[in-house]
Amino acid sequence: MRNSVDRDKIVIKGWDIQELTEFMKKLKEKPYRAKQLHIWLYRKLARSFEEMTDLPAILRNYLEKKTIINLVEPVEVIKSPDDNSEKYLFRLTDGNYIESVYMESQGRRTVCLSTQVGCNLGCTFCATARMGLKRNLTAGEILDQFLFINRTKDRKITNIVYMGMGEPLLNYEDTIKSIKILNSELGPEISARKITVSTCGIVPIIYRIANERHKFKLAISLNATTNEQRNKIMPINKKYPIKDILKAINYYTSNLKRRVTFEYVIIKGFNDSVNDAKRLKSLLSGIPCKLNIIPFNENEFSKFQSSDEKTMDKFIEEIYKAPFAVTVRRSQGRSIKGACGQLYCKQN
Ligand code: SAH
Repeated sequence: MRNSVDRDKIVIKGWDIQELTEFMKKLKEKPYRAKQLHIWLYRKLARSFEEMTDLPAILRNYLEKKTIINLVEPVEVIKSPDDNSEKYLFRLTDGNYIESVYMESQGRRTVCLSTQVGCNLGCTFCATARMGLKRNLTAGEILDQFLFINRTKDRKITNIVYMGMGEPLLNYEDTIKSIKILNSELGPEISARKITVSTCGIVPIIYRIANERHKFKLAISLNATTNEQRNKIMPINKKYPIKDILKAINYYTSNLKRRVTFEYVIIKGFNDSVNDAKRLKSLLSGIPCKLNIIPFNENEFSKFQSSDEKTMDKFIEEIYKAPFAVTVRRSQGRSIKGACGQLYCKQN
């Protein structure tokens, strides 16, 4: 919990180079101090001013007294016994909790970031939905999950997925701001091509991303092939039905000349038949895309179950005939409840 002294402090984690420069100007410091601070915060992953040895002691002492840079504190880290994944439970400065996941596979080191405390989309297959929405995360809190986790590793994180708790496009400004800092040369310098933002399909924001010509990858959680079916598991579909999402995606792919990824969580007896695969194939044919099939991860909040291997094989055999690329996501972190749809903080 943030104490009374902290309440008066200025939160500078999440500030970009312009904001840090303004701040240094106000303090009558040289502009290059902002650059040094930016490098310490976002590139050298500093978590104390003591580490920032090239800043004058007087400035460091001032910053120590007046500002906050640590926005997530680890409460628990669970390492998976069966794959190289880890789940982090973080406490925020206001006492709320979030989770983030680290995964290693085939030379890729990926962090899965949360963008909200909980979520208000109400998808019936996802544990996070049961938390409801507490609040949006700030750009600094989104970033700090990555910064903290990368500091515990001896090698650089290579990929970022915005697939943790919450809906990134309902916290658009702070999501974009965090991505810009991740991209920055004076920061972690993670290229936009290595960053994926996943959405349930917030149509007006998809147009906005296309118009603003952002370079990160976009993934759409489709999960069903008819509105009737999608309405049952994703209430947001009543507001943004499949047709409207695909129209927005068409605009996105033609405007940016870029492919999108569709995600399809495959659920036993619900959307796993050969007919579902056929419908999915015809729905997405003609869109420059890749399809990512995600076997359903069971969680205590949902009555749904994973499809059996045989049914899944038949579905995949059918969908492989499609003109677009299909991958099956081997879910990491299942045993530590860190896989897609399993993030939940009982502490909130
Ligand atoms: N709100 C965003 C970001 C969360 S991403 C979105 O909807 O895309 C989480 C991904 O995990 C989504 O693709 C979602 O469809 C998938 N998912 C949710 N619950 C799941 C579960 N129980 N098993 C497998 N995948 C799940």
